[in-house]
Amino acid sequence: LAPRAPVAVPRVLALANQKGGVGKTTTAINLGTALAAIGETVLIIDLDPQGNASTGLGIERRDRRVSTYDVMCGEATLRQAVLPTAVPRLHIAPSTMDLSGLELELATARDRAYRLRDAVRRLNVDSSHYRNESFDFTYVLIDCPPSLNLITVNAMAAANAILVPLQCEFFALEGLSQLLKTVEQVRQTLNPGLSIHGVVLTMFDARNNLSNQVVEDVRQFMGEKVYETIIPRNVRVSEAPSYGKPVLLYDLKCVGSQAYLRLASEIIQRERNLRAAATV
Ligand code: ADP
Ligand code: MG
Repeated sequence: LAPRAPVAVPRVLALANQKGGVGKTTTAINLGTALAAIGETVLIIDLDPQGNASTGLGIERRDRRVSTYDVMCGEATLRQAVLPTAVPRLHIAPSTMDLSGLELELATARDRAYRLRDAVRRLNVDSSHYRNESFDFTYVLIDCPPSLNLITVNAMAAANAILVPLQCEFFALEGLSQLLKTVEQVRQTLNPGLSIHGVVLTMFDARNNLSNQVVEDVRQFMGEKVYETIIPRNVRVSEAPSYGKPVLLYDLKCVGSQAYLRLASEIIQRERNLRAAATV
């Protein structure tokens, strides 16, 4: 028997912020697309019962036969939920409304906080059984719901690091300390290796003085954790999901697409620095 090639372990980043409308889903879709465009093999896991990441990537409800709900209930493997998208190397595990009932269903399960972690651990192992489409994911992006509930805790337990989208608006920092506290609690109990990857400022409007003030405040508070790349408010970004497309497919030249490409290279650079630091 020929020895099997070692299974690659993907980097797992969770996009979390318990506030809604801050750009979690938009960032999951477009960062995922940008990472795929520069050669990574990416899986987006849609963990929001609203399913906006699935819809935004053109996945019809009737095609979501195996969803992240089935995976977290233990009725399917994550690999079975994976669907291709119009973007080469970008895949999605879609969600359905069923996910909103998960918390109650898992209430008495001992491993309830580890359902996603265990599913993600099997992801690339299972893919070696798929002879026809055998490939390893290098990045997994988890799109969290706007809540610090059991679903988000599962995402934090499964992740290597958290990516926090913050909208450039007056209450940007509100709720951030609660989020950081939850990350710290998960680190102390469920996932000692968890870190904050970075904070991405979204929907920046250069004509608005408030936006500039928010950038200053957030950099003051979070320092180096804030990515240099700032995502501008851009109408093309908000139009793209209604066509079931990432903005990079809808209008590659627009400022929103260009910003997400820059964010992807910044993230890959940070990953390289982390790996270099880990090997010395
Ligand atoms: P969340 O997932 O955190 O709830 P979304 O990513 O769904 O947030 O974004 C909320 C809304 O803001 C959506 O309608 C989205 O299209 C819009 N939006 C997000 N980012 C931008 C941007 N850079 N420019 C314009 N609109 C944006
Ligand atoms: Mg969302």
